Amino acid sequence: MARKTTTPPAGSQLAAMPARAAKAAKAAPLLAKAAKPAKPATPKTAATSAKAAKAGAKPALPASPAGRLKGEAAAGVVPARRRAVANAAAAAHGRTVAPWSDAEIVEAFTRFELRDPEPKGELDYVDPFTLLVAVVLSAQATDVGVNKATKGLFAAAPTPAAMVALGEEGIAGFIRTLGLFRGKAKNVAELSRLLLERHGGEVPVDRAALEALPGVGRKTANVVLNIAFGVPTIAVDTHLFRVANRTGLAPGATPLEVELGLEARIPDRFKRHAHHWLILHGRYICKARLPDCPICPINDLCRWPDKPI
Ligand code: SF4
Repeated sequence: MARKTTTPPAGSQLAAMPARAAKAAKAAPLLAKAAKPAKPATPKTAATSAKAAKAGAKPALPASPAGRLKGEAAAGVVPARRRAVANAAAAAHGRTVAPWSDAEIVEAFTRFELRDPEPKGELDYVDPFTLLVAVVLSAQATDVGVNKATKGLFAAAPTPAAMVALGEEGIAGFIRTLGLFRGKAKNVAELSRLLLERHGGEVPVDRAALEALPGVGRKTANVVLNIAFGVPTIAVDTHLFRVANRTGLAPGATPLEVELGLEARIPDRFKRHAHHWLILHGRYICKARLPDCPICPINDLCRWPDKPI
């Protein structure tokens, strides 16, 4: 993506500087804004600062990690990934963004709907049980990787009873390409046993019952309830968390805060597909490192202060 650059006016102080020094000079006011008011300089610190400036040292950054990230991000002196994280964190704490109006939210989801009326997730499954297993396996793994692993697993064990018969070691044999595969194999074997013991081998349409299964947290329960049973839940994964914070749609410091914020703001008619639209938007357009703002369908609505104009 082409990044916007600015050329200092000819004859200005910045124009006379080498590029790196000009960048540092431009950054200084932003950094000063991000930092807490400094104590008056003592003769010793003033002398030290002057020495550092003479040597071409970079300006000091705020001491706290959060302040440092914000300062660095504002100055554009950090890699894009850290800048994205800083912005998400900053937005989560209400740094810059004004809340979206109801009309803007309707407009954004209307556009998502027009572009993709029936959004689908990218995990392969054939029924609620295989969806549940696939989502449990997807923690810290890509959907592509999970699909490769579950192809053989679901052929060998398509039901809870068959999964129990396959056993932890047998399950591990199919999913060893996934991170944390031993723990995941143990969870899949045990959740299959519990489905038989507590729910007659069926996946319950109940959040508490789902979350009582090993390896199943709120996000997984929300995905299963939404996709398998059509419940208008919003599962907040890393993509959705980033999009909600970066755009200002539903800033929150935790996935639960974001989920509750989205539930409160998104009109009911959009809720069924909202999490898919936002997850796919975050995965393919509003990416963590280099969001494709120029082609973004909600660019004009987005509150991200660092988006290209
Ligand atoms: S303009 Fe679009 S791609 Fe860019 S940050 Fe905003 S939502 Fe993400």
